[in-house]
Amino acid sequence: MPIATVNPANGETLRTFDALGEEEIERRISAAASTFRTYRTTGFAERARLLNRAADLLDEDQQDIARTMTTEMGKPLAAARAEAAKCAKAMRWYAAHAERLLADEHPDDADVKDSGATKALVRYRPLGTVLAVMPWNFPLWQVVRFAAPALMAGNTALLKHASNVPQTALYLGDLFSRAGFPDGCFQTLLVGSGAIEAILRDPRIVAATLTGSEPAGRSVASVAGDEIKKTVLELGGSDPYLVLPSADVAKAAETAVTARVQNNGQSCIAAKRFIVHTDVYDEFAERFTARMRELTVGDPLEESTDVGPLSSEQGRSDIEELVDDAVGQGATALCGGRRPAHLGGGLERGWFYEPTVLAGITPDMRIHREETFGPVATLYRAADLDEALDIANDTSFGLSSNVWTRDEAEMDRCVRDLEAGGVFFNGMTASHPALPFGGVKRSGYGRELAGHGIREFCNTTTVWYG
Ligand code: NAP
Repeated sequence: MPIATVNPANGETLRTFDALGEEEIERRISAAASTFRTYRTTGFAERARLLNRAADLLDEDQQDIARTMTTEMGKPLAAARAEAAKCAKAMRWYAAHAERLLADEHPDDADVKDSGATKALVRYRPLGTVLAVMPWNFPLWQVVRFAAPALMAGNTALLKHASNVPQTALYLGDLFSRAGFPDGCFQTLLVGSGAIEAILRDPRIVAATLTGSEPAGRSVASVAGDEIKKTVLELGGSDPYLVLPSADVAKAAETAVTARVQNNGQSCIAAKRFIVHTDVYDEFAERFTARMRELTVGDPLEESTDVGPLSSEQGRSDIEELVDDAVGQGATALCGGRRPAHLGGGLERGWFYEPTVLAGITPDMRIHREETFGPVATLYRAADLDEALDIANDTSFGLSSNVWTRDEAEMDRCVRDLEAGGVFFNGMTASHPALPFGGVKRSGYGRELAGHGIREFCNTTTVWYG
């Protein structure tokens, strides 16, 4: 993939970048490793000061960086501004809480004595230089939710961002540097994915985190496995959205629209499969489809736009193939199912797709098994909670899940039985700095955010005094 900014709203190439050469990569790895030796000795107060400064700068830059993100990957401008604000909030959260999250742990006195020690404790020490391989869909947030805890823990980081968001990637390197982080603490490497293996095999890189697709995760995890290096993988999702008879169906349908089309439908935690109890199926389908039909598709730089383009031509053809396969096998498009016809002013060359609701999904359709990374919802009718849970779990993914019910016994059952890293009731999945985020099955492993996230790239050290 060329490293370039190509506006997905009209297909225009705005800027191209050369990939870094071997010498420059070597220089940056070396800087990251040597900076780690001193940065690891700084205290939490100093790191927090720098991270709070980065948050302030990001707030000041919000309009500009939001525009850059929208131009590079097509998310509506308001969503881009909200993403920047969310990143600043997460930075401040980690600045305020890292010291507490990484405080020494003290086992019970009786256990300390039993171990033969006079004193014993657990200390979380930084690991070293971590390579972050990141996707374009939340080009600031995916990076910040790794970088804020990693930097607060005392690690240094190298970012290999997706090739279609180079300006956002460069902005991030610049942001941490302007905030005063020592040179080498956080650096962007403009390289293609072919360069990752050599970087990851470098002994100065101690671990990797990857957010992206299953093939990318498999590739990075295999190299890391071969080198016995820690990885965290945040991969794809096909989150179920269950609507049960006691639900507030009108609210469930309204929220379902946002849950599905947020970020033009390109979110790992977007609800993708809508599994509705037969008693409320017709009402939900009607309300949901009506609202999906009302959405405004258009230029993401216009404030009135709800749904912008997909990030790439390939992304749109992937969606078209999934929808065509389903319809070819008998699914019904209750709305959408095609490119929008009305766009002009250059947008007709952009990679838009109409918000779509498909009913009549069967297990042999590709869309039943694969992730739909675009504004396409699949609807399933379930006879009861057992069947709804069976459909929900009939996927190789396990990122998050959503359930609409007021019945506490049903809630308990869902918390017990849904195979996912999150269960959200009467609302849609969203990440928050204080709540761990991650999946099971092929959605990956490890956790980001909260205490779980900051400890992923720490050396959990046993300290024992005889
Ligand atoms: P992607 O193609 O896997 O790219 C993600 C990153 O991996 C990019 O930096 C990419 O570099 C790199 N990459 C691609 N192929 C690689 C390979 N074989 N070896 C090493 N690195 C490789 O994914 P995407 O299309 O950008 O993002 C969409 C996917 O990310 C979806 O599946 C989505 O669900 C998932 N995602 C998951 C989460 C989560 O938290 N679980 C969050 C957001 C997105 P290039 O751009 O240079 O190819």
